[in-house]
Amino acid sequence: MTTRDSSMISVEEARDRILAFFRRLDPERKPLIEALGQVLAEDIVAPFDIPPLDNTAMDGYAVRAADTTGASEAAPKVLKVVADLAAGYILETPVGPGEAVRIMTGAPMPPGADAVVPFEETDEPLRDVGETPHKGDTVGIFKAAKPGANIRFRAEDVQHGQTVVPAGRLIRASEIGVLASAGLTHVNVYRRPVVAILSTGDEITEPGQPLLPGRIYDANAHSVAALVKSYGGIPRLLGIAKDTVEDLTAMIRRGLDADMLVTSAGVSRGDFDVVKDVLAHEGAIDFWTVRMKPGKPLAFGAFKAPDGRRVPHLGLPGNPVSSMVSFELFGRPAIFTMLGRSDWERPLIRAITRDTVVNVDGRRFYARCVVSKGDDGRYYADLTGPQGSGILTSMSAANALTVIPEDLPEARPGDEIDVMLLDG
Ligand code: AMP
Ligand code: MG
Repeated sequence: MTTRDSSMISVEEARDRILAFFRRLDPERKPLIEALGQVLAEDIVAPFDIPPLDNTAMDGYAVRAADTTGASEAAPKVLKVVADLAAGYILETPVGPGEAVRIMTGAPMPPGADAVVPFEETDEPLRDVGETPHKGDTVGIFKAAKPGANIRFRAEDVQHGQTVVPAGRLIRASEIGVLASAGLTHVNVYRRPVVAILSTGDEITEPGQPLLPGRIYDANAHSVAALVKSYGGIPRLLGIAKDTVEDLTAMIRRGLDADMLVTSAGVSRGDFDVVKDVLAHEGAIDFWTVRMKPGKPLAFGAFKAPDGRRVPHLGLPGNPVSSMVSFELFGRPAIFTMLGRSDWERPLIRAITRDTVVNVDGRRFYARCVVSKGDDGRYYADLTGPQGSGILTSMSAANALTVIPEDLPEARPGDEIDVMLLDG
């Protein structure tokens, strides 16, 4: 029930104020692969040694290293092949002096053997195709093996009881592999946030509906939903609210079971829209002017849900580029925080601009650009044409945003600037 129109704030201040509201969500139990991109909510401790037994790292012959001393191609050491061992099988009979076991990668080391001689260091490749030494045959060893050669030792990856993946770790493909190798099928991860998305404005039309004169199709709900999804949230499209108190109020209420509500348009200073009134009446909200371009107006507040929860609300500007850039800077960190991720800061890289970037109004300029590597191995930035905040194709052509500081009125061709890479 409060409305405050403060003077300009920095991007960081806006982000800090927003993030102060967010906490990571509750854990949920998920099948391993579905947990990709979520954050582990428990320490995972190895239930056994990995690998569980000493095993061979190569296809070859398990031998007693001492039997191979002095072996060479000219004077091979000849050993008797006593068994042929595939991965997945155990040999209990010990390998005696003068004996070898033909063994496949991953097969547990037979007792008595302390080294593996790869096929390439034996006479096996010299034989005819399909002709391999079988039980009772002999094999010529061409090279002495040191004890331990080509063996993967029990517990060399992970020891029983050791934490294999700690709580707080983002689950990527490699974590899924590690967890599967520890025998897990499910893990506890922090839940993905559900983000309700509402477009506002009498002129906004749902794609698929006929476009009346003076109307435009809804770009924002769709681009923002796609951003929500790519940053790990679950988008829920509420539709389009007309600029009337009744419609907007009803639509907002439908989104209050979400973890966050995002609206677009109607938050500009002196806006004709009723959005500001409704937002202020239905919840606590701040309207900010953020020192950035595109996307100066921004609203942030909270609505009270019927169950008593306070649902955070991010009010994006209406212009499609402003809306996307604002969501990138403020919505993405909020989603990451709810997911339990603290790595929301995008790394900046230095690139040489090939264009003049004019920045006269004291705001941080996130111009759409393409960053590519030049023949000299350095990164270059090329603007993607007209930078109007309604020109969404300039965003589509871009893979990065320039980060021109508030106090830099112009960057000239050849100047090194910061850029924020968007893809990934
Ligand atoms: P407003 O913030 O309501 O003043 O809107 C600023 C500009 O963004 C106007 O030109 C709107 O028509 C446009 N706009 C608002 N919402 C959307 C939307 N969902 N999709 C595309 N353009 C929009
Ligand atoms: Mg409007």
